[in-house]
Amino acid sequence: MDRARPGIAIDLHGVATPMPGGFRRAPLRIRAGRIGAAASPRARRMRLDDHLVFPGLVNAHDHLHVNAVPPLAHAQPFRNSYEWMEAFKAHFAAPAVSAALAVPKHVRLRHGALKNLLAGTTCVAHHDPWHPALDAPDFPVAVVREYGWAYAPGWPEYGPDMRRSFAATPAGRPWMIHLAEGTDPAAQAELAALDASGCLGRNSVLVHCVGLSAEDVERAIERGAGVVWCPSSNLALLGRTLDPRRLSAAGRLALGTDSRLTGARDMLEEMRGVLARGELPAAGLLEAATIAGARILRLAGRGRLAPGDVADLVLVRDTGPGATDGPAGLQRNELRAVVRDGLPCLADPDLAEWFALADVETVPAMLDGRPKLLARWLADAAVAALEPGFTLASGSGAQQRDAAVAAAAGSR
Ligand SMILES: [Zn+2]
Repeated sequence: MDRARPGIAIDLHGVATPMPGGFRRAPLRIRAGRIGAAASPRARRMRLDDHLVFPGLVNAHDHLHVNAVPPLAHAQPFRNSYEWMEAFKAHFAAPAVSAALAVPKHVRLRHGALKNLLAGTTCVAHHDPWHPALDAPDFPVAVVREYGWAYAPGWPEYGPDMRRSFAATPAGRPWMIHLAEGTDPAAQAELAALDASGCLGRNSVLVHCVGLSAEDVERAIERGAGVVWCPSSNLALLGRTLDPRRLSAAGRLALGTDSRLTGARDMLEEMRGVLARGELPAAGLLEAATIAGARILRLAGRGRLAPGDVADLVLVRDTGPGATDGPAGLQRNELRAVVRDGLPCLADPDLAEWFALADVETVPAMLDGRPKLLARWLADAAVAALEPGFTLASGSGAQQRDAAVAAAAGSR
């Protein structure tokens, strides 16, 4: 499946984009997959009046290959993640689990990526060994590359050795570890132990951190480390999560979903949960899901929309004051379009002209009951079959696309 080359110049007219100090209504210029600075007579024009454009979301923590594996049912919260992992060992024998894991790994990885893309997430940190499938030019999302990692201080049987991996990771690359994923003394001791091991540095990316005390949080901030907050996973597994406010104020908070084994359906559901529980205001939440996540994961040119940045975008309808929260608070089928490298990937059918302008072939699809157009290079039946709420229309010809456009026009 070929992905169209992103070499073209397109100007999005009528949109407003978030800038420091407010929204700016001006054409958003896309040049060869990046945000451009200057007008060009060669640029194609797409009118998108009454829309807001946000950076594509950054999911700072996932395990892409296990998003279709049934979660482990449990009645009581676990004291820490190691108890959950012990309990999960028996769960592997469940027929539904072994069936899910029998799907080839490259298909499962692509499914995890599709899950993210459908919810406006264009870049993901995959907390597992690298896999050649992640290198495919048509992989549905960008993946954080050249990272160091260990699994967790108390689970050395999986993944690289903690100390050796930290020492081998260049200072300019992120080093990721699950840390303090629990509420008991074992979890509460992990940050101090990590520090004593020499593995708490400016590039340390600490995932979960539910067991951190206020002093631990200050220590992590002082060392310049980043924390990835996965509140849905924490609440499901442990019955509580961290207080994100201090880390958010310090710019050291990223947002992640974790996999669906424990976590939210996707970044949008994660954000809606945070807003419903009142844990963080929408602005801080969006920051964690974009620019702060990109900074912590050392992703140059992501999480913002300045000239030269990657043109990964989420388009939402400008419905008034609440719309400035962008994707925070929306369902995935309410996003108007998701764009990677300047090219539309998924959009409402009335935006068919945009795909045509960008020379991107489409197929009709349904997302949670709403018709959508999907870039053809993303239409993989085996992958789509793993995603609840998402179907590719059979045939996928121009006729079906026209029918989807007509259905969407009728529903508005
Ligand atoms: Zn994890």
